[in-house]
Amino acid sequence: TTTPAQASPATARPDEADSNGRPLVELRHVDKHFGDLHVLKDINLTVSKGEVLVVLGPSGSGKSTMCRTINRLETIDSGSILIDGTPLPQEGRELTRLRAEVGMVFQQFNLFANKTIIDNVMLAPVKVRHVSKQDAHDEAMELLARVGVDSQAEKYPAQLSGGQQQRVAIARALAMHPKVMLFDEPTSALDPEMVNEVLDVMLELAGEGMTMICVTHEMGFARKAADRVVFMADGKILETGAPDDFFEHPRTERAKDFLSKII
Ligand code: ADP
Ligand code: MG
Repeated sequence: TTTPAQASPATARPDEADSNGRPLVELRHVDKHFGDLHVLKDINLTVSKGEVLVVLGPSGSGKSTMCRTINRLETIDSGSILIDGTPLPQEGRELTRLRAEVGMVFQQFNLFANKTIIDNVMLAPVKVRHVSKQDAHDEAMELLARVGVDSQAEKYPAQLSGGQQQRVAIARALAMHPKVMLFDEPTSALDPEMVNEVLDVMLELAGEGMTMICVTHEMGFARKAADRVVFMADGKILETGAPDDFFEHPRTERAKDFLSKII
């Protein structure tokens, strides 16, 4: 597999420059406060096309907030965020368009409880992408098959297990054809026996070249899937590096301390 490190701007062949290696998500000097609390401190981060980034860090370090700023569920105080080269504006039609390019999967599955599984997946493509109902239905069924829950299409979320609901949430995000997928602790609310069925879907997506930002404490997944690991603490990115490097040789005390508690 091609790692983004091999396709960095310095080494990429010219024909690669506009495909793999292109920055899809860029955070430049991003700062964010909640009242007096400084939650994101000069965050600088570039995620290349096809790259899988795993974000680690103790609870309260700003991981979720960082994810939420990327599709503008949270505003930022200063700095800028670019999606595929275009700065996220404050509001308006361009924001709606850019937001649709970022798929998000949360810890709580956030499915619409009063809609069937298939309707959950079809809704946004019909409403936002203006896809015909027939086409949206066909694609939704394909996506549900891909994540292994097509047999549940006519059921309601509460009739599914947590692992199945989370796989539906992934299918629903994919139905918008996002350029990048954000996962914020997607397996933290699951019973242990359901964690792998969700991680397997994520691994498959990673293998297919999806650009992904994953907040997770699943170290097995991080080692298998991550091209790069980012370690956050107190609203700052303290370390960034290849997964093996980070896990074997964390440089900061915060990271050593964190790893000693979770591995
Ligand atoms: P993480 O995901 O790494 O656990 P968060 O991004 O959720 O961290 O939170 C970072 C800090 O911001 C925490 O101290 C949290 O309590 C605080 N915080 C998060 N969301 C809000 C909010 N909407 N209002 C006020 N404080 C918040
Ligand atoms: Mg969080």
